[in-house]
Amino acid sequence: MANKNPLEITDKDEMRNWSRSMRAQGKTIGLVPTMGYLHEGHLSLIQESHKQTHLTVVSIYVNPGQFSPTEDLSTYPSDFLGDIQKLKSVPGGVDVIFRPRNLYDYGNKDDGVGGGVGWDQEGGKVVSCVEKSGMEHETWVRVERLEKGLCGISRPVFFRGVATIVTKLFNIVEPDVAVFGKKDYQQWRIIQRMVRDLDFGIKVIGSELVRDDDGLAKSSRNVRLPPDDRQKALSISKSLFKAKFAAENGQIDCQELRNAVIQAVHEAGGKIDYAEIVDQESLEKLEEIKRPAVFCVAAWFGNVRLIDNIEINV
Ligand code: AMP
Repeated sequence: MANKNPLEITDKDEMRNWSRSMRAQGKTIGLVPTMGYLHEGHLSLIQESHKQTHLTVVSIYVNPGQFSPTEDLSTYPSDFLGDIQKLKSVPGGVDVIFRPRNLYDYGNKDDGVGGGVGWDQEGGKVVSCVEKSGMEHETWVRVERLEKGLCGISRPVFFRGVATIVTKLFNIVEPDVAVFGKKDYQQWRIIQRMVRDLDFGIKVIGSELVRDDDGLAKSSRNVRLPPDDRQKALSISKSLFKAKFAAENGQIDCQELRNAVIQAVHEAGGKIDYAEIVDQESLEKLEEIKRPAVFCVAAWFGNVRLIDNIEINV
C-alpha cells in the first residue's frame, strides 16, 4: 500500500478548518498527542487510531505548561525530520502532522519559553515554564483528586499542564477519538476523567505499553541514558514483572511487593521517586491486591527520570 504524505499544519485555525471540512464530509478523526522524538510506542497509538477512525492527526508539541522551570524542557530530545520519516513509514500513514510553534499567548513578548535555570518557586508558589515566561495565560484545567498522587507529588504542575494542553488540542483539532498510552497510566486516567467530567464529545482510548525487547518501557527520554544506566534501569521492568508473577501466585500484600521493587532498583543504583500499587481506576493506594491494580514506579537513573507500570489482575 502506498503511504500517505502527511499534511503539515502549524497554524491552529488552519488545523481546525481542516478538521471541520473533513467532518463535514463524514470522516471521523483520531488524535494522537505527542511531544515528538517518536518511537514504536507512539506509532502503536497511531495503529490504534486507524482501528477507530477514518483519519489520524498526530500532534507534536513539547508543552512548556507541564514542565516546572527546574525540569528538562530545554533538554527534551527532538528530531522533527526523523519524526516525519517515521510518520510517513508507519503502516496506513497519518493524515496531518500538527506542529504548532506555540500554543500559549505571548502577549507582547515574542521570545521562546525559558527552561532549566535555577528557579522553581515564585513567591512560594510552584510555577510552570509558562508562568515563569510571563505569558498571558491564566486558565488551567485541573483534575483535582487524580492529579495529586504518584507523579503529581514530585511534579506538582505536571498534570495541570497536561490537562490544559490536551483541552486546547481537543478544542483545536475537534477529534472524535483521542489515543493515549498506558505507559503514562495516571495521565490516561486523568484525561478519561476530564473528558467525562467536562462533557467532551471525544472517546478516549488507552493503548498498551510498548517495551524494548529486553523489557525497558520505550520512552523518548531513554536516549539520554548512558549504556550503563540503561542496563541498570532494567531493574524497574524486571522487578515489576516479578511482582506481577508473585501477585498472580498469591502474594497480594502490597507492602511486601513494593519493598521488593524498591530494593531491586536501589541495588541497581537507581533512586526511587515512588513505587505504589493503586486501584486501576481511582488510583487509590491498595494494601492488598483484591481488585484490578496497577503497580506504578518512577525512578531516577543519573539525571533521567523514568516511569513504568504493570497492570495486575488477580
Ligand atoms: P510523549 O511524547 O512522551 O508525551 O507521549 C505521547 C503519547 O505516547 C502518550 O499518550 C504516551 O503515553 C504514549 N507513549 C509514550 N511511550 C509509550 C510506550 N512505551 N508505550 C505506549 N505508549 C507510549
